[in-house]
Amino acid sequence: MGIIKVKGIVIAENNLSDYDKMVTILTPNGKIGCAAKGARRPKSQLMAATQFLCFGDYLIYQGASSYHINSCEVNEVFYNLRMDLEKLQYAAHITKIINDVTDENQNTYKILQLFLNTLYVLSETDKDMDLVISIFKLKLMCLLGFTPIIDRCTACKKTENVFFNHFSLRDSGVKCDICSRQDKGAVEISEATMQAIKYIVLAPPKKLFSFSLAENSLKELQMISNLYLNEKLDKEYKLEKLF
Ligand SMILES: [Zn+2]
Repeated sequence: MGIIKVKGIVIAENNLSDYDKMVTILTPNGKIGCAAKGARRPKSQLMAATQFLCFGDYLIYQGASSYHINSCEVNEVFYNLRMDLEKLQYAAHITKIINDVTDENQNTYKILQLFLNTLYVLSETDKDMDLVISIFKLKLMCLLGFTPIIDRCTACKKTENVFFNHFSLRDSGVKCDICSRQDKGAVEISEATMQAIKYIVLAPPKKLFSFSLAENSLKELQMISNLYLNEKLDKEYKLEKLF
């Protein structure tokens, strides 16, 4: 078998034996499980390349039971995430979600792009991390086919002359003041939160994180993104303390 080159990021690592490691790499074409022989030896060239959240160009080949990493050209190790426990905790939280929603042999180009952009913002900026992961979660839902309806009321379908002030989890989108009275699960949100949700849905990848929110709207956005993600993925994700 020949050697193939894949671009990707390590989203999980497991120790195999005293010196070997098994890593999961997210590439633009899905996840790949790769063994890395000797990666835990102190002088191994694969040591940095097989660390959690290392992003690079991997040369891999198919072995008898799995792929093996031959070598790697490291592009980014997100050093700042490793040096700050709070940042690392947020990064681990979104990585767990990414690991759950991706599979082998699927087009994950946009998901990988969102993941890398989010890690970059967490690592290199002082942007409020609750805002960053709220944006990540809502955009991820869009990429997974759960784009919320934002241009009309999900119940009466009106697009204008109505006051949009609720988000309906049941109907996956915004709801007008009148229709929301029939939907007990609809969450009342401020105009700024409504605009933020619309922005996240429509923004191109590079502009996604280019806004800020006041404290009360951030709380609302955080609640909506968490409830929406948990409902669509049928799971209870919580930000877990690492230590
Ligand atoms: Zn309505």
